[in-house]
Amino acid sequence: MITRLSHLFLRTLRDDPADAEVPSHKLLVRAGYVRRLAPGIYSWLPLGLRTLRKIENVVREEMDAIGAQEISLPALLPREPYEATNRWTEYGDALFRLKDRKGADYLLGPTHEELFALTVKGEYNSYKDLPVTLYQIQTKYRDEARPRAGILRGREFIMKDSYSFDLDDEGLSASYQAHRGAYQKIFDRLNVSYVIVAATSGAMGGSASEEFLANSPVGEDTYVISRESGYAANVEAVVTAVPAEIPLEGLAEAVVHETPDTATIAKLVEWANANGVADRLGRPVTAADTLKNVIVKLRYPDGKSEILGIGLPGDREVDEKRLEASVEPAAVELLGDEDFKANPFLVKGYIGPKALLANGVRYLLDPRVVSGTAWITGADEAGKHYVNLVAGRDFTADGTIEAADVRDGDPSPDGKGVLESARGIEIGHIFQLGRKYTDAFDVDVLGENGKPVRLTMGSYGVGISRMMAVVAEQQHDDKGLRWPKEIAPYDVHVVIANKDETAREGAEKVVAELNAAGLDVLFDDRKASPGVKFKDAELLGMPLVVVIGRGWSEGKLELRDRFTGESEEFPAETAVASIIAKVRG
Ligand code: ATP
Ligand code: MG
Repeated sequence: MITRLSHLFLRTLRDDPADAEVPSHKLLVRAGYVRRLAPGIYSWLPLGLRTLRKIENVVREEMDAIGAQEISLPALLPREPYEATNRWTEYGDALFRLKDRKGADYLLGPTHEELFALTVKGEYNSYKDLPVTLYQIQTKYRDEARPRAGILRGREFIMKDSYSFDLDDEGLSASYQAHRGAYQKIFDRLNVSYVIVAATSGAMGGSASEEFLANSPVGEDTYVISRESGYAANVEAVVTAVPAEIPLEGLAEAVVHETPDTATIAKLVEWANANGVADRLGRPVTAADTLKNVIVKLRYPDGKSEILGIGLPGDREVDEKRLEASVEPAAVELLGDEDFKANPFLVKGYIGPKALLANGVRYLLDPRVVSGTAWITGADEAGKHYVNLVAGRDFTADGTIEAADVRDGDPSPDGKGVLESARGIEIGHIFQLGRKYTDAFDVDVLGENGKPVRLTMGSYGVGISRMMAVVAEQQHDDKGLRWPKEIAPYDVHVVIANKDETAREGAEKVVAELNAAGLDVLFDDRKASPGVKFKDAELLGMPLVVVIGRGWSEGKLELRDRFTGESEEFPAETAVASIIAKVRG
């Protein structure tokens, strides 16, 4: 097809939009691919829609190739199925809830596990029907707390979500692996640089969930990788390498010391170094010798709350995301003055394990605080600290929690090498759900032996609209967008760069031949200056730009590669064949 820029519904912008921080957002708006309507809500203009459809089709082809079948469920959904799984409540503020004219509750679907489980239950009843994988490419709604970076994090966005249904764990594992392979093909076809990281802690079963993260400094996900072993995990999923326990025999006694004005870790360390603790250790005291006790309030979906104490080495901070992942579905809140008033045993700056345990506050430790480790920690009175308070001897917590920050140089959980951190954007997520949703709706089929079999389920998502921003983010240069062949709105961008009527006629001819060969051509036939046209061609980002200009009078045209920036001259007679070869090659 031929699209003439003189007719295309497009206006490119010279300036970056005021609300844009990341390059993909700036460029997609400036190049007229998308327009903002409200926070996290975008309209798709012709060029953007073409790329979006192409991404969809790459995903569709790879889903079909693993035998998944496409269906489409509504985005406007009744409350009941989500009530049955408790997600009507647990999804929290991210769920768009609404009422119909009769007052019945509805929601705009953020993800569709419930509905797919019900759909399969409605149609299938024999083991002979299984396995089955269904998918849809559909608009999702999430009232994100921080819609960000244009279509990178929308409140309305397009996702491919698929769901596998199997009779047993082996089947689920095969469905999961099939998706994993399909996702690798999709992201390779889109030229995305990415890593696959463990998304749930090993405690939940290793490969139960993995995320595909596109490498990007603007990513909101931090992952860690051990270069030595290839172990890679989302920071939330890192399981701390636990040091060996230390025998309790012979450890020095715990002693309370007067430590005036030591409400911060830094001051406490200073005190310890100046007051003989360092001498006894035979080395300087550091923040890692102190046990810091952080108190938070957990708010459960039913509105109830609980105070939680977290003990961690004083050189570590609580990582908000890791803490949130560990206490999900509860939300984390900070304690207010009234909480301190209501719990006078919480002495700010001097909180220790003893008062927490004595007062029934649930107290969880960083996994490094193993039995036999000795700590300098609060003695629950202003100006007092314990020295040598030993875990497993002087206090025993209610368990451990993965909440401390993960740092470059920390030992890799697999025992090989150290962790290094990097940032990424989540582009896909594959998840062995098991029976959570099939249990909620009794999704059974009749087994081979005549007994009912509860199906086991996987769910798998790819951010289709986000992918467009991710490719733009990874591939752009300072001049504009640069699309890989597979998803460029057009195969070639032909520019007339000469007022000369013969050049115009020549361009019409070249464009017609390219079109006849089945290429999609964006044709800049506008009466604008060559400079303006070249700038737009660079901004819009088609992989090949054909320039018909001054050389035309000598029978030559110019071919520019938007990726390499190289340009070549071709004689007009062979140019069309060369262009076609480049597009197909
Ligand atoms: P994130 O951590 O980025 O919020 P998520 O864990 O909520 O992602 P899933 O629920 O697994 O994501 O959704 C599947 C895919 O949908 C994600 O991998 C991502 O590519 C895409 N996606 C999720 N939320 C958004 C959004 N707000 N805007 C655009 N794409 C999204
Ligand atoms: Mg999310």
